[in-house]
Amino acid sequence: MDALKLREDFPILFQTVNDEPLVYLDNAATTQKPKQVLDVLKHYYELDNANVHRGVHTLAERATADYEAAREKVRHFINAKENAEVLFTRGTTTGLNWVARGLGEKIVKKGDRIVISQMEHHSNIVPWQELAHKVGAELVYIDLTVEGELDLVDAKKKITSHTKIVSIAHASNVMGVINPIEQLSALAHEVGAVMVVDGAQSAPHMALDVQALDADFYAFSGHKMCGPTGIGVLYGKRQWLEVMDPVEFGGEMIDFVYHDHSTWAELPYKFEAGTPNIAGGIALGAAIDYLEAIGMDEIHAYEQALVEYVLPKLLAIDGVTVYGPSDPEKHTGVIAFNIDGLHPHDLATALDMEGVAVRAGHHCAQPLLKYLAVQSTARASFYFYNTKEDADRLIEAIHATKEFFGHGFI
Ligand code: PLP
Repeated sequence: MDALKLREDFPILFQTVNDEPLVYLDNAATTQKPKQVLDVLKHYYELDNANVHRGVHTLAERATADYEAAREKVRHFINAKENAEVLFTRGTTTGLNWVARGLGEKIVKKGDRIVISQMEHHSNIVPWQELAHKVGAELVYIDLTVEGELDLVDAKKKITSHTKIVSIAHASNVMGVINPIEQLSALAHEVGAVMVVDGAQSAPHMALDVQALDADFYAFSGHKMCGPTGIGVLYGKRQWLEVMDPVEFGGEMIDFVYHDHSTWAELPYKFEAGTPNIAGGIALGAAIDYLEAIGMDEIHAYEQALVEYVLPKLLAIDGVTVYGPSDPEKHTGVIAFNIDGLHPHDLATALDMEGVAVRAGHHCAQPLLKYLAVQSTARASFYFYNTKEDADRLIEAIHATKEFFGHGFI
């Protein structure tokens, strides 16, 4: 994998910020888009724009064919059995909400359990909280080990026969830790629970096989994997999608509309009410082509090598705390850290002055930060177009910041 060559596909990376060459390390929030994806968006609007699934004219047929071809690309990318199991959404958040509302409200009853973990993003907490409040269920959190990994012993204790849904991130957006989804699926299925996976931070970074994971649902976002905003995917096993109700109603998702009731279209259309994000779907297909041409295993290995390179340098800085496992094998390219006596917002602002973009805050994971007993952290998140030079610039900028704020002096 030639990161320097790949960078050339990302025009946005070649700019200066505060008179310094940009180092973009906020990829967990959103990734940049290659020319190949931008070109597809432009091409679609310049030549093919039409509504899908309804017109018989040439443009409508072209738009429909391209949109459905993108669905097939997603199917292949995640190894779903059939295209009917691939639902286009607005993103991970929408997908998780659909499952909580459309299926959760049907199968979770008073006194039942919904099991999540201490490391979830708000998108994989709040929909379940709402469901639990509505039906009178219990929301239970699997604890973490001291290293910041999901504690499988605790998982075994908490996934009881009362559990109806287990919903876990495949990779943490804060600590970068990768969770053992296959083992969790097995635990969930032993008690007849539905296994939902938040794949927002994994789908962009590693090869996926939803069948091998035995996930019942798998949600992810296009914008975190070189695609546009406003498009995402919810994979669901046919057996559950047939039980699950749509949560949005209107055009496109119906079979027949009578004066007093309606019947639903076949899968996957029963969930996709209204005009979809056609350009977004087609461009997500282009993003998948782009990622697959590089190779998901190559991307994963490259990011782990970057973490292996930068983590020791980060840990060697006086006063640095890194959250999550120190073993790069257990990591995606996401690293959360703090520096004694320096507020993460001040750190992120100072790094920006050096052209280095990182995130600071609670990363939409307030319960996790409470669990870790910190208010906020800085977070550097790498993607395949980042280089060792970017990692060095981060480390140098941290040293410069420490000196500026009076640290590092004896
Ligand atoms: N889950 C995780 C782990 C995330 O990192 C994010 C976004 O940062 C989300 C869910 C929500 O994704 P979106 O805002 O694209 O719906």
